[in-house]
Amino acid sequence: MSQKPPPKQFVKMPINGTKFTLLVSSAKGGVGKSTVAVNLAFALQSLGLKIGILDADVYGPSLPKLMKINEKPKSEDGKAIIPVTKYDAQCMSMGLLVDEQTPMIWRGPMVISAIKTMTQKVLWKDRDVIVVDMPPGTGDTQLTFAQEVKVDGAIIVSTPQDLALLDVKRGIQMFDKTGVNILGLIDNMSYFKGDDGKDYQIFGESGVEKTAKEFNKKFLGHLPIHQDLRSSADKGDPLTHSNPNHEVSLLFKNIAEKIKQSFQ
Ligand code: ADP
Repeated sequence: MSQKPPPKQFVKMPINGTKFTLLVSSAKGGVGKSTVAVNLAFALQSLGLKIGILDADVYGPSLPKLMKINEKPKSEDGKAIIPVTKYDAQCMSMGLLVDEQTPMIWRGPMVISAIKTMTQKVLWKDRDVIVVDMPPGTGDTQLTFAQEVKVDGAIIVSTPQDLALLDVKRGIQMFDKTGVNILGLIDNMSYFKGDDGKDYQIFGESGVEKTAKEFNKKFLGHLPIHQDLRSSADKGDPLTHSNPNHEVSLLFKNIAEKIKQSFQ
């Protein structure tokens, strides 16, 4: 009788140079995950933490734009990569290594190899936390992080509409199955404050909070649709960095404080 081979044992390698590795993920694209990741990173910085930002979306890197980074990372030995520092944050993105216009037509193994390079060959130095902006979904990148990288916590960003929430449930189950600690869920584009002072729940109400409850996860907070969040991202200077006292930056700070508590 043929015997099943034993399941492959993965060794989880830590990202060197940081005390904490935090994944920011979303099950669906376009829910504002990259915007939240970068603003959250600077909200953590405003709490006195030394930050790094790793853009793990090899197909659609957005960090160079969100932070207006034009510099290429350097290497002294042709192997290890020195991250680019901007606004006191150490940054790394596939978008810094390839031309902006170059489409990334990669197969799974190439993606896995790129993720391994960005987690093992980048000389992160003296960081309290590296915020990893994950690609949307539950594909090769997520699996590589879940199985082969020592991750300390993950947060899931979603908008509150049913369509996005369905995918969130899949995302929660993936992290639960692979043993990644979910620190909580964030509801982005939760409401829009009109000139009349009223809040308009464009994508529905409290869906993310309910999903968090359903799966026994922490709910970290609501973030509104705000033009300043979009325009600061377009200018390449995230709102929580350019205007830390903005009402939306303070909401990010509140979420950052909750996340910081889980670092101990
Ligand atoms: P994702 O990473 O999920 O694909 P992005 O962070 O790229 O999403 O956001 C998509 C678009 O929505 C961007 O133009 C971004 O500036 C904008 N955006 C994201 N969150 C907000 C928000 N809370 N308020 C206003 N605009 C937002």
